[in-house]
Amino acid sequence: MADQMSSELLGYIQESPTSFHATEVSCKLLQSGGFKLISESADWKNLLPGKYVVKKGGSAIVAFSFENRAEIIKNGWRIIGAHTDSPGLKVKPSSDLIYKSYQQVGVEIYGGMILSTWFDRDLSLAGRVIFRNRHGSLQAVNIDFKRPIAFVPNVAVHLEKTHNEGRTINKQKEMPPLIATITGEKLSFEKIILEQMEKEGVRDVENLISYDLFFYDYQQPSFVGLNDEFIASARLDNLANCFLATTSLRDSNSVLPQMLVLNDHEEVGSSSYVGAAGTMLGSIIKRLGEGNEEDFARTIYNSFLVSADNAHAVHPNYVEKHELNHMPEVNRGPVIKVNANQRYSSTSESIAIFSSICKEQGVSYQIFVNRADMGCGSTIGPIISTVIGVRSVDVGLPTLGMHSIRELAGSYDIKQMYKVFSGFFNSSIDKLTVATS
Ligand SMILES: [Zn+2]
Repeated sequence: MADQMSSELLGYIQESPTSFHATEVSCKLLQSGGFKLISESADWKNLLPGKYVVKKGGSAIVAFSFENRAEIIKNGWRIIGAHTDSPGLKVKPSSDLIYKSYQQVGVEIYGGMILSTWFDRDLSLAGRVIFRNRHGSLQAVNIDFKRPIAFVPNVAVHLEKTHNEGRTINKQKEMPPLIATITGEKLSFEKIILEQMEKEGVRDVENLISYDLFFYDYQQPSFVGLNDEFIASARLDNLANCFLATTSLRDSNSVLPQMLVLNDHEEVGSSSYVGAAGTMLGSIIKRLGEGNEEDFARTIYNSFLVSADNAHAVHPNYVEKHELNHMPEVNRGPVIKVNANQRYSSTSESIAIFSSICKEQGVSYQIFVNRADMGCGSTIGPIISTVIGVRSVDVGLPTLGMHSIRELAGSYDIKQMYKVFSGFFNSSIDKLTVATS
């Protein structure tokens, strides 16, 4: 079941330990497909038709392709959205923690992770660092240790009797990773980072100013199962969809207006200038129109967003967590996500449109609704839909163990979602329209 596309996904995840790296990797993939990197600060008034990619804050991307500026209004944008961030341990600004000869690193919990899965794993460290260079300017660089440098050891079962009986985990006390034993002079985290920057060829560093650094699971993604039917990996939520959205746009031969948005900060609520609740996407769509509200409103009316994130596959050991009629399974195709309280953006209209594209591509799809007595996660779908007023559907790859340090998805589903994304980019405006009486 492991095909070329799912193998490439493994490589993408491996190269993307943080949202900053995922942005960089997606940008390079798009550039390899002829997309030109442009800045939001450039003058776009006379932007010629073509393929472009815009980075924001180092951790978010909007990419788009169009053949005729005047045609954008009547065709609308075909937009696929996903998020670059995943739950993890984020290093605190003053992070040196020393107890006896143990050197640890102070961390915050980023997003809703399953804490217990972070114990007893080989962890590495990566992210973005801002420094002042020798010429007095501020500069940003991504770094990645690419080796296991940290570990959060469990306390032995002999010392903690509640281990197998509903143990609770204190985020402040129990999660700081151990990075060294001190034999001579005390280490400083800042010095460790400066040394790593030097190793990675960063020159002209005067001093370190600030950083967004995250510990991540060092174990590489792999195929698992008798027939390689599963993909086991960190950050499948949501790098799998970032990869699929990026490659389907890169490979698209559609002449219709197409767009990709990869936001950061979804796992912490999306409220930031690189998050889905920010103005990034709406502002870019506005600038690609004729610049007036009239054109913007007409363009948005004709546009359609596929918000792609992972979906809860039914777990064979926890079938009671799903309801009988809505039990998506791994390797049974993309999932359309529905919630009456609009935690997912899907509506009868957007479901009809997305499911028709699946049908046209020969891809079977599944539908997920939470049990009525359970809460529901959310995605960038309802947020973008609210902020810019675009129609939207929430879809996902069926996944087990979401927000674990190592999640499990299906190898077969990867290519299926790619097919649907490609079909979506090729869907004319009449296929994105439901007639109303
Ligand atoms: Zn997600």
